[in-house]
Amino acid sequence: MPASISISPRPGSATDAIKVRGACPHDCPDTCALITTVEAGVAVKVQGNPDHRHTGGVLCTKVSRYTERSYHPERILQPLKRVGPKGSGQFEAVSWDSALGEIAARLQAIAQRDPQAIAPYSYAGTMGLVQGEGMAGRFFNKLGASLLERTICSAAGTEGLTQTLGGKVGMKVEFFAEARLILIWGSNSIASNLHFWRHVQEAKRRGARIICIDPRKTETAEKCHEHIALQPGTDAALALGIMHELIVHDWLDHAYIESHALGWPLLRERALLWNPERVAQVCGIPVEQVRALARDYGECFVNGQPAAIRLNYGMQRVRGGGNATRAVACLPALTGAWRHRAGGVLLSSSGMFPVNQAALQRPELRAGRPSRTLNMITIGDDLLRSSSADFGPKIEALIVYNSNPVAVAPDSGKVVQGFAREDLFTVVLEHFQTDTADYADFILPATTQLEHWDVHGAYGHTDVLLNRPAITPVGQARTNTDIFRGLAARMGFSEPCFLEDDETLCRTAFRHPDGDRINFDELLDKGFATLPGPDAPFADGRFLTPSGKCEFFSARLAAQGLDGLPDHVPNYEAAGSSASYPLAMISPPARNFLNSTFVNVKSLRDIEGEPLLEINAQDAAARGIVTGSVVKVFNQRGSYRVRAEVSNRARPGVVHGLGVWWRKFGLDGTNVNELTSQHLTDLGRGPVFYDCLVQVQLDAESVL
Ligand code: SF4
Repeated sequence: MPASISISPRPGSATDAIKVRGACPHDCPDTCALITTVEAGVAVKVQGNPDHRHTGGVLCTKVSRYTERSYHPERILQPLKRVGPKGSGQFEAVSWDSALGEIAARLQAIAQRDPQAIAPYSYAGTMGLVQGEGMAGRFFNKLGASLLERTICSAAGTEGLTQTLGGKVGMKVEFFAEARLILIWGSNSIASNLHFWRHVQEAKRRGARIICIDPRKTETAEKCHEHIALQPGTDAALALGIMHELIVHDWLDHAYIESHALGWPLLRERALLWNPERVAQVCGIPVEQVRALARDYGECFVNGQPAAIRLNYGMQRVRGGGNATRAVACLPALTGAWRHRAGGVLLSSSGMFPVNQAALQRPELRAGRPSRTLNMITIGDDLLRSSSADFGPKIEALIVYNSNPVAVAPDSGKVVQGFAREDLFTVVLEHFQTDTADYADFILPATTQLEHWDVHGAYGHTDVLLNRPAITPVGQARTNTDIFRGLAARMGFSEPCFLEDDETLCRTAFRHPDGDRINFDELLDKGFATLPGPDAPFADGRFLTPSGKCEFFSARLAAQGLDGLPDHVPNYEAAGSSASYPLAMISPPARNFLNSTFVNVKSLRDIEGEPLLEINAQDAAARGIVTGSVVKVFNQRGSYRVRAEVSNRARPGVVHGLGVWWRKFGLDGTNVNELTSQHLTDLGRGPVFYDCLVQVQLDAESVL
């Protein structure tokens, strides 16, 4: 332990400055190790832990201002009860006792009719295993509430990887620094995977070639040797085109394919349908760019050099997102790139963490009762459904925690309509009065990461991190776990598991019947611990699929009546398919926000200014739009007003509605999700945020 760091045994009001180790809770692959400096019981600074190799003492701009968020003047500090119409944001303060008592009574009355009429809605507002679904899972299982498919971010990619490699597994991020070629595919790493970018810079210094594949010319794309600006939703076609060229030029590791892949003759036949001319036409890029990309990848095999692919979730938010992930994930097996520790693909490492979810969430508390499952993508439609044999009971109560669905769920016109139902009982656990909290019957003040225990896996590296509370809860805030414990007690749930404290839950997360999978003492001592595992996980095959091979052909998909091979699945709303809505829209995150988190942190919002739509000069000129124009962006689902920025970040025919702004900060109280649809991906039942056609015009009110 460095001499400069002393660990606070508990949060408190010590007069000497202390430093407390923690973990960043946000939905980001980097899962940084934090050190919070506390003076007289007040957190004064949050920094990156220099001893944690993946953090390297550096945090992003967002989290280095974390104290501004925890001590925000608009932080909710006591339970609030609605006193005005839904959505009006009018509340009065009530005591915890009265809030929990009233909520428990309402839930009990509904549960007596059918507990499945009660639904949780949560996602990655914290990535913590304890303040996430730890105690909440127990509560909803005991209640017998509806289950939730938590699909809003990564479901298609997860399913694509699982069907190909066997799980969310891949290269270790640190070895990207040794790669000779890096494809950054569907990722703005500088904005959303900062610590990975340091490995890219190191690889670049050592002579690696870096190529970015992304419809948008991002900050990352600008710093790569080449940018391939393909049409949204055409990534699988590009991957099949690479395969075509690998086959034609025999840049193939036949021994690796023979020993460690399944379905090669079938995939070969499929890939040969995708010559570079066809790929170029589908992807909207020059044919020579397809050939050159394949050559770069193939030559790494010929020269015995490692080629690495950093996939990220952007490319799977379209109808064919699962197939696209499968197609890309097949590439390293074709050239045997997995033989190198700096070769292969990384989308997510989260499947490498041996988390005991059952011990945390206790599904046996459901006691065999029926479990209707809702998909969080279709919450807009589902809130408006009546009871039916197909759907089950109408949703009567919604408990929202770690999520802001009114801002982030697609087709938000419907979502708002659903949340506005006077007969819907809504409880929101929150730090701030978000767009969703405006529609709550009760808002319960929750703690931030500085105020509670938690334990974290990661999806961009392979370290477990412990988060200790640095300060006592601000105001009357309570941990999520404590809120669910309180509700459980009032509802008469007497199982001892509802009494477990948060440190016990942290220990439970990696405890299995045959022993602990992580040394908790090491976590207590250092704040992080590295999972054991080989540097090159598939050098000798041993994939996690049923066959133990990289499954080019998936018998499991074929058994579901789906295509067993990866293919290009065109977008629901393919570019050029609608005269009324001629522009494809994607909605990547604004650099200083993380999903809808941080939008209300003024210093970060000031950097972003206001909601922006990036539009290419050609498309702007055709509409009389200049930078600064207020434009109306619309399609058959809705419209929103936004400031235009004429920019070469956008290719012709594609616009970028940067997100995810809270609706209340939008020009007319809406945001980009007014336009996105509730369609689901080909695999995994995920969202298709980037599969969306729109029209853009100068806003009539602004012109006048
Ligand atoms: S958001 Fe990401 S980069 Fe920023 S501190 Fe958290 S884990 Fe690190």
